Amino acid sequence: MLDTAQALIKRGGKTLGLSEKQTRDLIKINKEHVFEIELSSGKKLKAYRVQHNNKRGPYKGGIRFHTDVDLDEVRALATLMSFKTAAVGLPLGGGKGGVTVNPKTLSDVELEELSRKYARYLAPHIGPNKDVPAPDVNTDSRIIDWMVDEYSVVTGDKTYASFTGKSLGNGGSKGRDAATGRGGVIALQRLLELLGKKDQKMTIAIQGFGNVGSFFGVIAKDEQPKWQLVAASDSKSAIYSKTGFDARDLDVFKQKKGRFSNWPNATILTNEELIALDVDILVLAALGDSVTENNMANVKAKYIVELANGPINEAAHDYLISKDKVILPDIIANSGGVIVSYFEWVQNCNGQDWTAEKVNDQLKSYMIKAVDTLYKTSKENKISLKEAAFVNAIKNLL
Ligand code: NAD
Repeated sequence: MLDTAQALIKRGGKTLGLSEKQTRDLIKINKEHVFEIELSSGKKLKAYRVQHNNKRGPYKGGIRFHTDVDLDEVRALATLMSFKTAAVGLPLGGGKGGVTVNPKTLSDVELEELSRKYARYLAPHIGPNKDVPAPDVNTDSRIIDWMVDEYSVVTGDKTYASFTGKSLGNGGSKGRDAATGRGGVIALQRLLELLGKKDQKMTIAIQGFGNVGSFFGVIAKDEQPKWQLVAASDSKSAIYSKTGFDARDLDVFKQKKGRFSNWPNATILTNEELIALDVDILVLAALGDSVTENNMANVKAKYIVELANGPINEAAHDYLISKDKVILPDIIANSGGVIVSYFEWVQNCNGQDWTAEKVNDQLKSYMIKAVDTLYKTSKENKISLKEAAFVNAIKNLL
């Protein structure tokens, strides 16, 4: 993922005629915090916060709790954040954090201890005007609430603007939970409109029906009845139905911690089979590097939405573009999350409480502007949408 992100920055630099030094500066990471958290139980966990670039404003990016977390992954995700905030025109930089852990192996008491110790260690390096972390994979508003509380105990800060993704009663913003999925739907609709494919009947498969994937599915059903969800997956298996699913039913099932392998009356597939389905739209909403040299030739969908961060590697991107596929790139497709995080931060800093309607209206205008600029840059430079996203971001980072 890091190689792919850096390769795209270099390509963007070439398109814009930047010097080698200018490109190197864009890739350079400002600061890395690597530390160990020891829980009372004696468990020792590796923890990270990478602060990539703060030229446009405070570092911004989520915290991931996952066994695959390592320094390179956090570096890649931090880099993508700087380019995401720049590509959509937010006055924020890019950072990312994580802990190498499977949170399912921790008790609630341990999870709280881990979250508080993570915030306590980083307290001198983060804050409303320095670095504003948020949730990511396996972290949620409950975890962020513990972190905000710990941060305010250590520093005395009472603004709640030190983290975003908080619960609603604790300074969170309306619309934040759905924002990434909602932004993805808005972006895809706008792109299809620009491509002259608005309101056409299309089938959809969603890899990773978690927080982001499920909101995408549910909001897509409300906003665009002509799209039919025919497949979805979790980490273990995928389900397929020719007649389609109601995304809300899948969501309710997942909220109850159901496994798709137990879904009645559907064909059970592997995740690789889902990626290879003959659908119109493939939504990648799980983890990075889902489509690589190993499976890129299997992809049949014409439109691929990178709702996860870095789900398609560089080689697979180039291959799919050569096969005339349209890839809606991650730094635009999933930017709804950081856009509404920005709104949350603005509300906290100014003591405001926006309505859900205001949040969603503002999100829509940011997303539409970002997709329009993306499309224009892609056409003008005859480059892919992914390359165009990086070109637009670089212009805003110079
Ligand atoms: P999540 O943990 O809620 O959901 C991830 C989903 O992917 C789960 O359904 C999980 O079962 C599934 N999954 C995991 N491994 C898989 C595999 N190998 N194959 C298929 N499915 C697999 O996480 P999320 O918050 O929905 O985030 C998903 C992606 O979106 C991540 O890449 C994250 O960085 C990115 N993202 C999230 C946000 C946000 O607001 N949460 C914002 C921007 C980007």
